[in-house]
Amino acid sequence: MRCTVFGTGYLGATHAACMAELGHDVIGVDVDPGKVAKLSDGVVPFYEPGLEDVLRRNLDAGRLRFTTSYAEAAEHADVHFLGVGTPQKKGEYAADLKYVHAVVDTLAPMLRRPSVIVGKSTVPVGTAAALGARARRLTSAEVEVAWNPEFLREGFAVKDTLRPDRLVLGVDSSRDAAGWVEEMVREIYADVIAAQVPFLLTDLATAELVKVSANAFLATKISFINAVSEVCEATGADVTMLADALGYDARIGRRFLNAGLGFGGGCLPKDIRAFMARSGELGADHAVAFLREVDNINMRRRTKVVDMAARACGGSLLGANVAVLGAAFKPESDDVRDSPALNVAGMIQLHGAVVTVYDPKALENSRRVFPTLNYATSVAEACERADVVLVLTEWDEFTALRPEDLNRVVRAKSIIDGRNCLNRASWRAAGWVYAGLGTP
Ligand code: NAD
Repeated sequence: MRCTVFGTGYLGATHAACMAELGHDVIGVDVDPGKVAKLSDGVVPFYEPGLEDVLRRNLDAGRLRFTTSYAEAAEHADVHFLGVGTPQKKGEYAADLKYVHAVVDTLAPMLRRPSVIVGKSTVPVGTAAALGARARRLTSAEVEVAWNPEFLREGFAVKDTLRPDRLVLGVDSSRDAAGWVEEMVREIYADVIAAQVPFLLTDLATAELVKVSANAFLATKISFINAVSEVCEATGADVTMLADALGYDARIGRRFLNAGLGFGGGCLPKDIRAFMARSGELGADHAVAFLREVDNINMRRRTKVVDMAARACGGSLLGANVAVLGAAFKPESDDVRDSPALNVAGMIQLHGAVVTVYDPKALENSRRVFPTLNYATSVAEACERADVVLVLTEWDEFTALRPEDLNRVVRAKSIIDGRNCLNRASWRAAGWVYAGLGTP
């Protein structure tokens, strides 16, 4: 089949390449000509393991191309995926829908045949129905809007797109064309469905809410264990052993129960805030109160790590040398959007410390967002004469570190394990002062 993907960021570039991998004839559209040029040359503009292979294979096969031209895309296909960003509005909690609106406002007047816009971006409930009405005001062609939320994880994006845990499709059942929309989308995903991936057909509002609820639940698990870790700290209990023991209960599960610096990235924080804002508009006050606490607990972890760093430096960060290992919001990604690691690094710098950051993949993005921090190109360089070392993203390179690697590099043998990812016994045995979160 032919399809297009509007927005070629983490979601859209992956989706476009993977739809071509499924055998479809795909055009990816972006307003950023630099991104379009790179993708057209087979270069993925961000770090995503395995994506470049899929991209190149499908460019070479002639099934995939990228453009800035909406007209070319409108002409190409009847199924248009929408994968542009929905960031947090400046100074507010709500999602900014200006990019989503821009796609619909530009694309809809160009549609000449019956078409379906399949939303993949994460949006507040009610957006899809409003977009359908908006699109239909702009064209005399039959246009439908469906919602097929995306659940991919950065670092596993290709696998998650080709073999997701489930496919959710929301359609507007009040429209005569609802059956046709479902048929088109099922056909696009035929190979995925044939691989026994569950396909759930819902109304538009449910599909939108599945995505934000999934993210809110994941965020809740993390904030839950972080709240419990405060009690562990007060009592000398060990939150990692506790989480292991909890995790054996199949009703709970071990994943997303790692206490530490908390969640960040381009999705969870802004999605729970947008969910909070939308719940408030709808009068769902319990959801607002609940989500607010999840967010508060998470943000408190960052100030706590800053306090721990100050304590490690004798009570004040002024003039201290601080090494920060990790800048990406999580390992296997170069994404620094709302990164807890960089947020902590920035706060420590504001307290007067000299902060040097190292990350295996995210240095370039970090420099752009926080140009005033110092950046190193290796762990050893970052830790040179450090008064304290902070591990804030659990890259394998950091979890594999041994005290002997740093013994002679640092000024003081003091390490803060913001992700509870180090073997504390071996660091202590080597004479280091080790501090974790929720661990004795
Ligand atoms: P992103 O910022 O990486 O990409 C957005 C892209 O859209 C950019 O390349 C931008 O240039 C482009 N764009 C902006 N306006 C446009 C327009 N009018 N026409 C065409 N292109 C335009 O964002 P992302 O991380 O890919 O996220 C996109 C959406 O997917 C968000 O709603 C996000 O919440 C959701 N999502 C993201 C992930 C993830 O892991 N990144 C996972 C699931 C869902």
